[in-house]
Amino acid sequence: MAFLNHALVPSASPACFSDRSPTTALCSLSKLSGPSTGGHKLVILSVTSLDCVRRPVPPRAGFLSKPSALISERVICTDVNARKKLEFKYTKDPSKGFCEFIESTSKEEVIAFFRDITNEVERFRQLQDFHFRVRDNDDGFRVEIFYNEDRRGPDVSPFDDCIGCSLDANLFVGQEPGMKSKECILEEFSDRPYAIVRLDVKGREGFSVMPVRHVERMSELDDDELYSMWTVVVRMLRQTGMPFISLILNHGSYRTLYHLNLKVWVDSDSYARYRLTWNKERMELWNRLQKYAVNRPKKQQVCFFFKRDGFCRHGEFCSYLHSYPKIINRVTSYSNFSS
Ligand SMILES: [Zn+2]
Ligand SMILES: [Zn+2]
Repeated sequence: MAFLNHALVPSASPACFSDRSPTTALCSLSKLSGPSTGGHKLVILSVTSLDCVRRPVPPRAGFLSKPSALISERVICTDVNARKKLEFKYTKDPSKGFCEFIESTSKEEVIAFFRDITNEVERFRQLQDFHFRVRDNDDGFRVEIFYNEDRRGPDVSPFDDCIGCSLDANLFVGQEPGMKSKECILEEFSDRPYAIVRLDVKGREGFSVMPVRHVERMSELDDDELYSMWTVVVRMLRQTGMPFISLILNHGSYRTLYHLNLKVWVDSDSYARYRLTWNKERMELWNRLQKYAVNRPKKQQVCFFFKRDGFCRHGEFCSYLHSYPKIINRVTSYSNFSS
């Protein structure tokens, strides 16, 4: 019940599902996958968004015909590529890098920044499936939203052992004994009861930051969870001295996991230097993780980066195919059936 109490902490201005009745909203929001009882999963509904039950945002006349517009006192939104990509910038101090922004801005302002973006994306534009990416550029950081691409979502059903909720869940089902989800946790960077940091569980050079509570969208996080998720990332990057390449939060069909999962990608050289600080035990864990990860089944879809660039930096650890599947000779197949 600690989770439920925690979930009752009201948010400043959460954004989601505003056009539903209070009852529907309460019953359809984030789910906590509890322990199995007699073959049934105990599912606790969490109350994350009591005060997000509000009217939809009215369309702003003429807004969509302009490439850029202020969507709040602090965020400017640009339609970079119609029906494919949006970009958001912090207007109050646009030249700051992301880590500097988090470190030098008040908690309320950081929360309001992310709420303004999710309001725009999920409520105003009604987008549920998107790739949310933070990147630093020469002129400060930006948040990019990619959408309208063919993505198929997670393979497993939501209440199969969630690796974010069930610490004993096997990360490599089919490769028994496999590894337990808790083995990859980096307690030194985690911030309980809000956010847990893990090594990337697919053995790639990066980290995963998950809220302790099972939520599936950033807009479902309460204020403390939202703030913790981003500050944990920045603290970890600062402590290890690693610059980030990108911070990714996939939503809807762009996900490979149901549990909200912030992926922190860093470059190979930085990660190699970070690995030199590990003790023997963690090194062994990493080697074991790599062995399992390289043998896990791929999603039956060609990797977006491989398709676009002919190259993907995750190499053999990528979740997607780095080759085109062979085309089945349908004429032969049909003639076999008819004979
Ligand atoms: Zn979960
Ligand atoms: Zn790939």
